[in-house]
Parts: sequence; C-alpha cells; structure tokens
Amino acid sequence: MHRALRLTCDKAALQANWRWLGDRSGVEAGAAVKADGYGLGARETVAALAEAGCRTFYVSSWAEAEELGALPEGASLAVLHGFGPDDGPAAAASSARPVLNTMEQAARWREAAPGRACDVMVDTGMNRLGLSAEETGCLDGLAIDTLMSHLACADEDNAMNAVQLDRFRQAAASIPAKRTSLANSAGICLGRDYSFDLVRPGLSLYGGVPRAEAAGHIAQVARIEAQVVQRRTIRAGESCGYGATFTATADTEAAILNIGYADGYLRGFSSRGSAFAGEIALPVIGRVSMDLIAVECDAAAGLKEGDWVEIDYDLPTASEQSGLSQYELLTVLGSRFSRRWS
Ligand SMILES: *Cc1c(COP(=O)(O)O)cnc(C)c1O
Repeated sequence: MHRALRLTCDKAALQANWRWLGDRSGVEAGAAVKADGYGLGARETVAALAEAGCRTFYVSSWAEAEELGALPEGASLAVLHGFGPDDGPAAAASSARPVLNTMEQAARWREAAPGRACDVMVDTGMNRLGLSAEETGCLDGLAIDTLMSHLACADEDNAMNAVQLDRFRQAAASIPAKRTSLANSAGICLGRDYSFDLVRPGLSLYGGVPRAEAAGHIAQVARIEAQVVQRRTIRAGESCGYGATFTATADTEAAILNIGYADGYLRGFSSRGSAFAGEIALPVIGRVSMDLIAVECDAAAGLKEGDWVEIDYDLPTASEQSGLSQYELLTVLGSRFSRRWS
C-alpha cells in the first residue's frame, strides 16, 4: 500500500551519536529505548546500537521488555519502573533486571527472585522515583548491578545539578553495587564529574540536542517527508486553512502536503514550521489540519502533485518552532508513516 508520508531513520547517525556520547563521557554508554525507542522503533534501535557496541539498554516497563523480544548476544536490559505488585509473571519470564525504586519493590524482589541481579534507583532530589537516603537499609542482601539516580535539571545550568551530584556520591559510597550511573544525555554534557561508571543517554541518541555542548556533534536521525497532494494559487486577499489565519497579500503559490496533527505534526507548527524542496525553504502558512498542511512555494516553480518534500524536523529547530520539547517531537509521531531505516 502506498503511503504519502514517510519517516526515515538514519542508522549511521544513531550509531555516531552513541559513539560521541560515550567518548564525551569517557565511560560505557548504555541506551534508553523506552517508549519504543523514543518513537523510532526499539527493536531497530537496539540492533543498530548493539552492532556499534552498546551493551546496556533501558525500557520503562516489563511490557516494553517483552515487546523487545530476544536481545542481541551480550546485551542486558533494565526495567526503569521496577518490580510492581503485578510484575511477577513477566519478570519470571524475562532476563531483564528491575530498577528497584521503593522499599516495597526491594522486599518483593528479594522474595520473588533471591540472588537474581537488580538495579537500584536512589532519589537525589527529583522526587519522582527512587529510594530516599534513609530508606537504603532495605537493600541488604540484594545483588545490585547498577546503582543509579536521575538528574532533574541537567539541561539547564541549575544549582540542583551539583546538589544531586554530591548526594549521589554519598549514596555510591555507602551502597555496594557493581557499577554506578547518574547521567542522561544532558548530564553527559555537564562534564565527566557526572559520568561515574556508565551513562544512560536517550534523547541525544535520536538527534536531540539538550545543551549547547552537544550542538554540532549530534546528528539528525529521524527525517520526515510528505508528498504534495495539490498545488494551487491563493489569490491576493484570499485566506488558506481553518480559521482563515493566513491571508495572501499578493497572489501566493501553495503546496498542500499530506501531513497533519494526526501524524504528530501538531498545531504549534501553524504558520511557524517549514519544509524543504531541495534547498528551497517552504514556510507553513495557516493552521495545521488533521491530515494536511499548506506551505508557500513561490520559490519552487517546478514543485508539483506527487513530489516529495522534507519537513524541517531538526529537533532543536522544530522545538523552537512548535513549542514542543525535543522528546515530545519524537514520541508524538503517529502510525501513518511508512517507516524505514537507512
Ligand atoms: C529516560 C531516561 C534516561 C534517558 O534520558 P534522556 O534525557 O533522554 O537522555 C536516563 N535515565 C532514566 C532513569 C530515564 O528515565
């Protein structure tokens, strides 16, 4: 079945991003592949990164662990949400480690899988998941692979980063574990003080630039192209799209493209996004519809029905245009794309 919308993921760019993150941190880099590899495909991401040498992967739930299927030789998987009251059967059938987040989870794991490896999350100030400093006594006797914490503000120059670093050092000094891990993508940019034994990038693997330090080093991974459904002239004084938010000041050439908010190209791109026909920029005019957008194409004289144009989906740029975070831009992409890895 032909689809007039395609998403192409660049395997070499994904692998190069992973290598840069490892080099920058100076330690082993794992990979967060939760939410189906940030929307791009967890299985493909794991295969590509394992080929590049990645050995440690993270998903959020046991359902995601199961969907991933068999892991490549030598790879291990950790489940960030831990070991909840309903996770017994799935964990028994899986080789993944839970990331234990509460005293209840620790007790439950000790009972259900004595001696089997786990990871542990300690809270150092984010107050989302993890054990507080007072609760870590519950860990006695567990086989802890990785002791970790998570940074709340690493994408900003926030005093909390140093506070969390200090608290994590204290936790690492008192809790026995094979290895320690603190940094996500943005944390890697903060410098090697934050590296510990293992870093856990997600966003930057997929082309996200969380801080200036990564700009110029992280390559775009996901590219979106849509086909032209119609080319038309909007006469001077006429409007285009819902709400008539765009009015042509002179006769304006427009291409109507097969993408809309149902595909994850949300309304924040209305009159702000852009596409490219080769080198020629085509600004979005008027509102994004459910299945369509209009782009101005005066400069692209030959552009016609059936031609493909690339939507500008460079994550930092698209985030600025749409007001969405770079994370949202990836995970919101819908099911109507024909997807392939190149
Ligand atoms: C999602 C996640 C990561 C990856 O974070 P990015 O900001 O995408 O690099 C790392 N660690 C934990 C605990 C996470 O939940």
